[in-house]
Formats: sequence, C-alpha cells, structure tokens
Amino acid sequence: MKAALLTIGNEVLSGKTLNTNSQFLSKSLNGLGFDVIEQITIPDDETMIITALNRLLKDVTLVVTTGGLGPTYDDITIPTIAKALGCDLVLHEEVIRDIEEKFKRFGRKMGDNNRSQAYFPSKAVVLGNPVGTAPGMYLAHEGKIVVALPGPPRENIPMFNHETKPLLTAIQNQPIHLMDLVLFGIGESDVENMIQENLTVPGAVRLATYVKPLYVTVRLTATVQSLMLETMKALEALFGHHVVGKDDCLLEEKVYHLLKERGRTLSLAESCTGGLVSSLLVSVPGSSEILDGAFITYSNAYKTRELGVDPALIEAEGAVSEAVARAMVLGLKERSGSDYCLAITGIAGPGGETPQKKVGLTYIALKTPENLLVRKFQFFGDRNTIRLRGALNALNLIRLEILKESIE
Ligand code: ATP
Ligand code: MG
Repeated sequence: MKAALLTIGNEVLSGKTLNTNSQFLSKSLNGLGFDVIEQITIPDDETMIITALNRLLKDVTLVVTTGGLGPTYDDITIPTIAKALGCDLVLHEEVIRDIEEKFKRFGRKMGDNNRSQAYFPSKAVVLGNPVGTAPGMYLAHEGKIVVALPGPPRENIPMFNHETKPLLTAIQNQPIHLMDLVLFGIGESDVENMIQENLTVPGAVRLATYVKPLYVTVRLTATVQSLMLETMKALEALFGHHVVGKDDCLLEEKVYHLLKERGRTLSLAESCTGGLVSSLLVSVPGSSEILDGAFITYSNAYKTRELGVDPALIEAEGAVSEAVARAMVLGLKERSGSDYCLAITGIAGPGGETPQKKVGLTYIALKTPENLLVRKFQFFGDRNTIRLRGALNALNLIRLEILKESIE
C-alpha cells in the first residue's frame, strides 16, 4: 500500500527545526509494509494544504500529516483536512472532557481556543495525546486514509506507536514480516548489483538497502515468513564474510559475543582513533568481560613510554608505519597479557600528509593467540570519518580473524 508524508510547519521550512518526524514516520511505515513514495513540507497555509493533500491522495492510499494541531490561530490542519475532503466538523464531547480534565490536573483554566481542538469530522477516530493537549486524527474516507499527528516529536512518536500503529496494522490484510541484514566492508551499489546479478527474489519479499555510516543494511519485508527466511539465507551465503549480523547487530556487539563465547580477552593501543575503538566496545553492556583495557598513545613519547616502542624506530619509519604498528602491538601484548591485542596508528588529517604518506593512511596490527598480522589501509573522508573507518575496520579485523580461527 502506498503512503506519503505531509509535513506542515513554518518552522521546518525556515530551518529552525530539523524534520525528524519524517524519518521516524517513514521508517515506521516501512516497517508496517507501506511504500512511502513521497514526503513534502509546506507552510501552515490553507490553500497549500488542500492542494497538496488532494494531489497526494491521487497517488497514495495513506497520507500522514504532522504539525499544526495546537490551539493557536496558525494551527489549521484538522479543519483544513476536513475542508479538502468535504467533511463537516462536529464537536466531539469526549475530547472536550479529556482536555478539561488535563487542564484541571495542571490547575489551569481551559480557554476557548482549546475548545477548537475538539472539532473533528464525525467519522474521525480521535487519537489520544497523553503528553500534550492536542489530539490527533485517523480518518478513513472514500477508500483513502488521512492521519494527522502533532508536530513535537515527544507527542508525535507515542501517538504513532500507541494509537496509530494498531489501526494501520488492521487495514493491512496480510501480516508483514521484517528483518535486517547488516553488512560491513562493501558499498551500497555493490550490494545492489550483487543482489541483482545473483538472486531471484520471490514476489512476496521486498528488499531495500540503507546506509548507516559505513554499514549497509539490507531490509527484507515479506508477507510470507518462510520466503523471507529463505531469502535471508541466500543473502547470507551471497555476502559471506561481509555479514556482521541481523537486525541491529553492529561490529562492537559481534566482537563482544565472539570473544565472550570463547572466554578470550582483548587490549587496545590507539593512536589516531583516540579511544574510539574502546568506546565502541564499552557501549556494549557486559564489555568488562572481554575488554582488559586500552592505552591511548597519541604522541611518539607515549608510544615509547607506555608501549616500549623504540624511539629510533619511530624516527626511522615514522609513527604511521607498519613497523611501529607492529612494535605497538607487541609492547601491548607484553604489558597486558590479553589473548588478543590490537594497535592502530594512522593519519586522520587534515594535516600531517607527506608525499609518501597520504591523509587516511592507517596501519592496524593484531596479535592473536596464534598470529601477528599488520594491515595497511588507505581511508578517505574528513578527520572523523577516517577515525570511524579506522575504528570499525579494527573491530572488523578482530571479527574476521576469530571467525577464520573457528573454521581452521
Ligand atoms: P503544538 O500544540 O505544540 O503547537 P502542533 O501539532 O501544532 O503542536 P507545530 O506547532 O506544527 O505542532 O509544531 C510544534 C513544534 O514541534 C515545533 O516548534 C517543532 O519544535 C516541533 N516540530 C514540528 N514539526 C516537526 C517535525 N516535522 N520534525 C520535528 N519536530 C517538529
Ligand atoms: Mg502549533
């Protein structure tokens, strides 16, 4: 079923407010199996609302509006929707009582303008607003549905989740199953090309790819669960070691689980990432079971003092070099005794580039119980993107190495 979002609000247009509702609503509607084909933002203007709504309703079954439900003169969304659809407004007594009660609870007197918030088309389902005064609306009219939600996200999100979702789920005649596959180390276009060239996706399954910084997620929505699971299996086989996990699984969680299952520990020595690798790991609850500790050895002097890296080696090879990454990890192993030790050194930029060493050059060294490996990377992007790429690739290296050991 096709859907569109109609954001109503001068504040969004003036740039004062970021339109976070549209992201939340698109994601939620997708999760319910709706195809969101358009999002538009317009001012609190009657003619523009009527024109936009009528145009959208030609192409989609569901339009969700946000904003303009408050009690002030510029909040005109509900009467304007009614006008566009040719519905009369009637006073909903239960809404008046509800608003009165809320005012009483806060010890305030209800004004006449609040009374205006109780007028809805007679067929409308009024959506309760536990956090604010403005109720929302769900209106089914001549085969189309218009949902009006408040602008403030703290009101919009609960009203969608608790009041709107059950009504929208009920009109979808088939259950919708949803699953995400999280990939790392491969670009979105390669993901799409590989799917197109290698998979025949059943009609009951829809695939969409999303990028969240440095990951690619393939979202599967399906009306038949068994077909979704089969497609998931085929995708996992197709993307092999790029598969981090399902749903919200990120590299730090994967690394945590892999180490925990094996009863192994990890220590880190970070230069260009400045603690980012350890911070990502520490965000996973229970990480103290696997992470012994981390050194942030940013200056050359610290690399020598904390990890025992020979100053002559740094002088000869440079702090960002294979030899120094190796020396860092060996020094770390000696001091920590952890099962796995990882060191990272790189040029995050924008300064520090030489003709031989470009911004983004990074070395990651990993000492496992069996092996010592040093990988060279050339990352692109601004300073923080390079740092994040470094941190995620460090976690990915640990993940791939443990998985390799399990196969051997
Ligand atoms: P209120 O009763 O608070 O007036 P309302 O439904 O009339 O609610 P608006 O007046 O349109 O909503 O917007 C109120 C506030 O909600 C805005 O100042 C803004 O901070 C926030 N807001 C509105 N629209 C959005 C949006 N699309 N995304 C994020 N925040 C929004
Ligand atoms: Mg308002």
